[in-house]
Amino acid sequence: MKIGTVREIKAQEFRVGLTPAAAQEAVAHGHEVLVETGAGQGAGFNDSDYEAAGAKILGDAADVFAQAEMIVKVKEPQASERAMLREGQLLFTYLHLAADPAQTHDLMKSGATCIAYETVTAKDGTLPLLAPMSEVAGRLAPQMGAWTLQKANGGRGVLMGGVPGVSPAKVVVIGGGVVGTNAARVAAGMGADVTVLDKSLPRLRYLDDTFGGTFRTAYASKAETEALVAASDLVIGAVLIPGAAAPKLVTREMLKTMKPGAAIVDVAIDQGGCVETSHPTTHDDPIYEVEGVMHYCVANMPGAVARTATLALSNATQPFLLALADKGWERACAEDPHLAAGLNVHAGKVTYKAVAEALDLPL
Ligand code: NAD
Repeated sequence: MKIGTVREIKAQEFRVGLTPAAAQEAVAHGHEVLVETGAGQGAGFNDSDYEAAGAKILGDAADVFAQAEMIVKVKEPQASERAMLREGQLLFTYLHLAADPAQTHDLMKSGATCIAYETVTAKDGTLPLLAPMSEVAGRLAPQMGAWTLQKANGGRGVLMGGVPGVSPAKVVVIGGGVVGTNAARVAAGMGADVTVLDKSLPRLRYLDDTFGGTFRTAYASKAETEALVAASDLVIGAVLIPGAAAPKLVTREMLKTMKPGAAIVDVAIDQGGCVETSHPTTHDDPIYEVEGVMHYCVANMPGAVARTATLALSNATQPFLLALADKGWERACAEDPHLAAGLNVHAGKVTYKAVAEALDLPL
């Protein structure tokens, strides 16, 4: 199969859909890999790295779209990219269609077969192509929180790990899933005093069994949340209710109980945020202050570490990518219901129930 990847054109997106290592693997499976010149630049991969992997460099995205049978990307195709998709072409990327009627209609019109990373499933019910980005955002959150806590950034001037004779920062992580666990591990590794709040007792049991000596756990009752947030230097928001907006667990009133210059990193901002006063920010201008508390609410945190994020995403997508290329999408999906769960649009129709329902379209 001819597999193509292009330079991402969405603002502030530096990741790339295919690494040279993934290209090499595809070539070893007998496929042809076509790469737009400069596609990997933002993630630190040169055209020569792809050429060394056996890929062919093409002059622009239009060439790749015209020749490739499968397009592999990171972000949902932008309008100009959607116009280049054609009937029977396979698109494998993040799509997030439920909130994007314009994109959905364009993909339907294109006649392409579109498999969305975010709805591919794993045996244990988790989402294997979302998890790597949650791992990245989770591990990045204490790093950004530590930066936000610095005096020059409006923070209260507290060092995460303290020093001998001076207490470390108090960090509260709300939600102990993939983001929360990774955030808690890194914050604890920096020497902070960390507590993870969750509503799920099985999850709290798992965290306590696995990380008992590293950080504490607490049940996310309203009273416990209020008390821990009031005492914290840094709050990391990491809750998720699948398919729903994040619940507002930290209210404006609660901010008034916090220490001046305390920091909030609301990782759940891509689902609306779990802090009442959160609104999405960008890497260019990531923080703002409300009630004396500094907020960091970047909706695409992994973009800050585009190389790590690209490699992590590629590790997760590669087996599915190879299955699609080796077998064709129909046989690959027939043999793997978890990959089939990724099918969102085919032959002019939405094929994913939640997207059809959200946009009031027939299945
Ligand atoms: P997850 O499903 O692995 O974990 C969510 C956790 O929240 C679960 O353990 C759940 O029990 C807990 N939870 C649900 N309701 C709660 C409540 N009321 N109180 C306390 N805990 C509660 O999800 P995840 O992969 O860790 O993702 C967390 C959030 O981070 C999501 O909104 C995700 O979209 C977002 N995210 C953002 C970025 C970014 O760049 N900003 C990147 C990746 C993920």
